[in-house]
Amino acid sequence: DGGKRPDYLAGLNPEQTEAVETLEGPVLVLAGAGTGKTRVLTTRIAHILNTGRAFPSQILAVTFTNKAAREMKERIALLVGGAVEGMPWLGTFHSIGVKLLRRHGELVGLSSGFTILDTDDVVRLIKQLIQAEGLDDKRWPAKQFAGMIDTWKNKGLGPADIPEGDARAFANGRGRELYFAYQARLTTLNACDFGDLLMHPITIFRKNPDLLKEYHGRFRYILVDEYQDTNTAQYMWLRLLAQRAKGEPQNVCCVGDDDQSIYGWRGAEVDNILRFEKDFPGAKVIKLERNYRSTEHILGAAAHLIAHNEGRLGKTLFTDRADPDDVKVQVHASWDSEEEARAIGEEIEQLQRSKHLLNDMAILVRASFQMREFEDRFVTLGLNYRVIGGPRFYERLEIRDAMAYFRLVAQPADDLAFERIINTPKRGLGDTTVRALHDYARARDVPMLAAAADIIETDELKPKARKALFDVIQSFRRWQELLENTPHTELAEQILEESGYTDMWKNDKSAEAPGRLENLKELIRSMESFESMRGFLEHVSLVMDAETNENLDAVSIMTLHSAKGLEFDTVFLPGWEEGLFPHQRSLDESGRAGLEEERRLAYVGITRAKRRCHIWFVSNRRIHGLWQSTLPSRFLDELPESHVEVAEMEQSYGGYGRGGYGQSRFDKAEPFANSYSTPGWKRAQANKTDATRDNWGTRSGHAVERIGYGESGPKGRMIDGE
Ligand code: ATP
Ligand code: MG
Repeated sequence: DGGKRPDYLAGLNPEQTEAVETLEGPVLVLAGAGTGKTRVLTTRIAHILNTGRAFPSQILAVTFTNKAAREMKERIALLVGGAVEGMPWLGTFHSIGVKLLRRHGELVGLSSGFTILDTDDVVRLIKQLIQAEGLDDKRWPAKQFAGMIDTWKNKGLGPADIPEGDARAFANGRGRELYFAYQARLTTLNACDFGDLLMHPITIFRKNPDLLKEYHGRFRYILVDEYQDTNTAQYMWLRLLAQRAKGEPQNVCCVGDDDQSIYGWRGAEVDNILRFEKDFPGAKVIKLERNYRSTEHILGAAAHLIAHNEGRLGKTLFTDRADPDDVKVQVHASWDSEEEARAIGEEIEQLQRSKHLLNDMAILVRASFQMREFEDRFVTLGLNYRVIGGPRFYERLEIRDAMAYFRLVAQPADDLAFERIINTPKRGLGDTTVRALHDYARARDVPMLAAAADIIETDELKPKARKALFDVIQSFRRWQELLENTPHTELAEQILEESGYTDMWKNDKSAEAPGRLENLKELIRSMESFESMRGFLEHVSLVMDAETNENLDAVSIMTLHSAKGLEFDTVFLPGWEEGLFPHQRSLDESGRAGLEEERRLAYVGITRAKRRCHIWFVSNRRIHGLWQSTLPSRFLDELPESHVEVAEMEQSYGGYGRGGYGQSRFDKAEPFANSYSTPGWKRAQANKTDATRDNWGTRSGHAVERIGYGESGPKGRMIDGE
């Protein structure tokens, strides 16, 4: 019957075909990067529809991001010839959860039109509860408790599931009680948080077996992509829907790669892969070993690197691709991150000259603060870029706040800046005061800062607000006086310190606070290349104005975490230095497991590349104006020499290049406790040039100070996990 086979099956290899055609019974596809797992899922759906086994509404398909869901829908439409009318149950765990709750929320006490609270709302609510309990919310920060609730919910634990004497108990053992109170409060408000989008459906299905049965009938086929990154709650949810009574069809297909599990820090459980075979006895496990994405060199490099992990299921990967023109993975050394951004910019322009599209190139960073240098450089070069999976550097909340301070110092008439920061950090200048100021300023047609200076001479404001406002105005006067004669980076630091803005984030217990502090440091650093505060402010307005048209040919910049599942002809991986990648924080917090997750992240990074993969490391990072030497990442030493070459440095500051990398292998013979000590430092110092000597002598001396790089990956939790 070969002749009748539909086109979409024709190009598949035998294992892929098996995964597509085994429609009855549980299937687990466990396979490495680029082997066609996502393609198998898409084709499988097309095949189900095409053979009339189910309607689009009878297929439940889970992707990791909304973007991936959209792409999958488009491809299915292409495969079956555009006849698909929607796929209502194709989406992320969260978006499907919302849909279920809109239908059945009343079973957990929510009426239709319930609201989904964002992280800020949640924290505010918890703070109220903590205060209502008569607890000190400074000692028991709301953000910390919000984080705990999130962790519990990722594990599928409701308030009743938390043991009384749980060691993680909050507020002298009252955590459980608070968790109950929080859930009750949400119900009263007709609201839920992100975690509830999974937890509520689980509760609903558990308590209403008939309803669950109805959904068993509805979902004839269940499919899950990126299965290795499901957390416990998602797995419970999935098992409820997929596990059927004996004799009933159990058509569930999950695809994943244990080597690409990179969300452990957010509760993902790679063990779910092992559990699958237990929970779905008789599951067919299919391995795909042929990689269709990358060259032999890229694959060879990635495979050799990941082999250093111990906790692996292990698998083979090969490619048939043998093009003599294929280039090895290139490792480049740069003096510092500015040179790194310049060199990558040049590389991109060169590719562009030989007719490569910017759309086919991506820069994947470990920590979001690294993006700034590339954005600045690309604006200077006039290269189009887009930031994926998060705001652009200068659009981040903390950067906008800080910029508002600087703007108001340099441009006292900037009312928008005034309104943004007048009560950030909180100074007791709330809405009432701001409204009074607004009216006062409008009536006299003066800027708000000037109005504030006037109004404190009157008795329009309450004494407390008046005093607070007086203090702020004094500060702004002082900063304005310093504007002309103080180096602008120094002034900027002073402003952020004296205003209490830096302290606000230092006192913040949330997971994203350290990343925000690092972005602020990066902001100060970025000012160094400008002559004055005004010059810098002008530059930023240009960057902010840069086009972000979807259809533009543009280089993608994103974190390694958001690059999952994607592919590009050329991939640039900057910042492979100890402390940044592997990230110091993940080593500190999770030890060996943390290191292995970092290594998987490196594996994800390399395997995004189809044809060209460039890895960069710098020998110096300048943090707070101090040069600090760095060591090349241990991951560089774990790359096989047969597939990797060290790029010659053309210009170089002091002939740093092959020598630097070569010696790093030697350096690594020393125990890692000394990572940051003498060898790297000596090496860097020996290579320093006149151009940088002046900045040099000021090395801080505390190795620990320089490690804490930025938060990685998507911040906060969005509905689609993007
Ligand atoms: P990842 O683990 O990174 O998510 P994956 O296993 O999901 O990767 P896909 O993205 O599905 O892999 O496929 C990788 C690339 O290989 C895609 O460009 C896809 O179109 C192509 N590909 C997959 N299977 C085949 C095939 N049989 N013939 C030709 N190209 C294929
Ligand atoms: Mg995939």
